[in-house]
Amino acid sequence: MIEPLEPQARLDQIVKLIAKHMETEVCSLYVLRSDGVLELYATEGLNPGSVHLAQLKLGEGLVGTIAATARPLNLSDAQNHPAFTYLPETGEEIYATFLGVPVLRAGRTLGVLVVQNKAAGRVYPEEESEAFETVAMVIAEMIAAGGLEGLTRPGATLDLTRPVSFEGEPLCDGIGIGRVVLHEPRVVVSSLFNEDVETEVSRLTEALAILRESIADMLDRRDVADEGEHRAVLETYRKFAQDRGWVRRLEEAVRNGLTAEAAVEKVQSDMRARMMHLTDPYIRERLHDFDDLANRLLRQLIGQGGVSADIADAVVVARNMGAAELLDYHRGQIRGLVLEEGAATSHVVIVARALGIPVAGQVKGVVSRSEKGDSIIVDGESGDVHLRPPPEVHDLFSDKLRFRAERQQRYRSLRDQPARTVDGTMIGLQMNAGLLVDLPQLAESGAEGIGLFRTELQFMVASTMPRAGDQERLYRAVLDAAGDKPVTFRTLDVGGDKLLPYLSHGPEENPALGYRAMRLALDRPGLLRTQLRALLKASSGRESRIMFPMVTDLFEIRAARALIDRELDHLTRFGYEPPKKLSIGAMLEVPSLLYQLDPLMAGLDFVSIGSNDLFQFFFAVDRGNANVSGRYDDLSVPFLRALRSVVAASERNGVHLSLCGEMAGRPLSAMALIGLGFRNISMAPPSIGPVKAMLTTLDAAALSGELHALLDDGEETGSARAFLKDFAERHAIPY
Ligand code: PEP
Ligand code: MG
Repeated sequence: MIEPLEPQARLDQIVKLIAKHMETEVCSLYVLRSDGVLELYATEGLNPGSVHLAQLKLGEGLVGTIAATARPLNLSDAQNHPAFTYLPETGEEIYATFLGVPVLRAGRTLGVLVVQNKAAGRVYPEEESEAFETVAMVIAEMIAAGGLEGLTRPGATLDLTRPVSFEGEPLCDGIGIGRVVLHEPRVVVSSLFNEDVETEVSRLTEALAILRESIADMLDRRDVADEGEHRAVLETYRKFAQDRGWVRRLEEAVRNGLTAEAAVEKVQSDMRARMMHLTDPYIRERLHDFDDLANRLLRQLIGQGGVSADIADAVVVARNMGAAELLDYHRGQIRGLVLEEGAATSHVVIVARALGIPVAGQVKGVVSRSEKGDSIIVDGESGDVHLRPPPEVHDLFSDKLRFRAERQQRYRSLRDQPARTVDGTMIGLQMNAGLLVDLPQLAESGAEGIGLFRTELQFMVASTMPRAGDQERLYRAVLDAAGDKPVTFRTLDVGGDKLLPYLSHGPEENPALGYRAMRLALDRPGLLRTQLRALLKASSGRESRIMFPMVTDLFEIRAARALIDRELDHLTRFGYEPPKKLSIGAMLEVPSLLYQLDPLMAGLDFVSIGSNDLFQFFFAVDRGNANVSGRYDDLSVPFLRALRSVVAASERNGVHLSLCGEMAGRPLSAMALIGLGFRNISMAPPSIGPVKAMLTTLDAAALSGELHALLDDGEETGSARAFLKDFAERHAIPY
């Protein structure tokens, strides 16, 4: 491998050496091209004239079968194997024994390596087959590193560079063109062969012990134990880490000459290749777990970790990630996000939306097919992802991107126009925010204010609890940036899917229904009082709008208001100027409030509907669970009826009403909201342009008439989506 040879000479040398060491008459290497053909790239023993001429299709012959199944074939009577096909140009019919192994990298077949002997009855023992697979792995690295460039014939390309397209779910609109950054990058194993087997075995044993210990530790940590999902995965990890078959295969690979890390890589690659084609979701999920576990073990062995995103134009590819992890990246460098999991209301997606990053989720298999630096396109409008796109696709999307930029330009020109419907109804469009990075959007988007400031984001991105001073500083910076535009601060909404590592409590079976938000805040009033004080201090002399999340019972509002009064007393006693005006509101995101709307509103200055959670609880559909995301249709008739009842109550009680869930930012559902009578909505900043474009072409009264008629029809139970689309199309409304 280290001899300075031209690529072909190097391959010739490799097959020659293998033949010599394995005492076989033939050794051949076939490389998989992007057109699904395996081409003979080098041979020792077969007709040398057939190199680059002999070829087999994927699935054809013994070699094609190995490539298609990603499994070795070890035969003592090859000609009588049902898959055998004879390639006359190679003159191979006289060879009876045959051992062929797939050339695998990250579970992907790049070619096939074969040895053959004339003597029937010779068997290649298991160790020899294992060693041979290891050699194939070295060749795989060589192919992946571009070592065969220049050998492909004109017009042909290797499979490694083949374009692949995936169909995912569109989670955040926009088009991202860039290069792959693997969020948890596969660890690169550079030292392959061990010098001393025993040393490597003990390195492996030690790393396995540490791995097991760290899993046990994680399971003991209460913050991890809190979340059912994590716990289940870790329990599986614990079992896998003890799996004797796995450990035995790892040890075998080391005994065959690999370093401990190369052994982990090899065993993982074999397993992935064998399981990749299985569609059983349970098995696929376990495969992911095994991948994660193998990666952890690799990191343990190599001592690597951390995220590197030095690529400009990065498209981050991950199985899943937390909101905080996304924020580790440099915002200006991220062009897109591709997740194997993820749903529209997962927090990472909400944060991505706030940052204007296009996202495709549910993109199965994308992590293992991507290599760092591969070119990639994410289409957040359709959910499609194109990996290593051919030039035509690339050009198509570049055009789309340009078209979108022009459309953005048009939205910008709408920015200073009033948000008025065709029939003269004014709609208040506000934006959602939660971090300092969001603030420039206030001016850019033309939002009338911040309708929801998620204060928990500051807590979620910090590794320790933000102190009172930090909180106050953030709130003051937000108010300063907003100038005379109103800002509605929502008090800490943690628990459920928003866990803070430093604020943990016992495990919960149903965290979404558990100890969270106001329940936690009122139980631990120190936390809420600190926050209220920071909010009141930051808004001294200005308007202060405070909103409570996840209210389920009116006593919570009374208790929270009492805390505010106490803090106000405290501040005035110490000579602080109080806010010029104080408005107190609540989020309506639990259905229990729907049946006490009048008393709820009587005690408040404003109400804002958190439709993400309200829908979740209304239909018992977990907002972050991809398996049920298909059931998350917030245009369903019963849900719209519920929203309508809130509009009516707000009019009855003269209380300001808004809605700040994700549905406010989708033009079609925003249209429905206006039809129901909403006059204020708050959304992620990039949605303001499209929503304004929709409403400035909408006749609100006409829609309202038709929509109310639909909801009044007691027989109607399904979704109003089709009706709304039809209405938009009939009136040429962009949605
Ligand atoms: C909601 O539930 O709709 C909402 C706006 O709050 P969050 O998404 O932060 O839970
Ligand atoms: Mg909510």
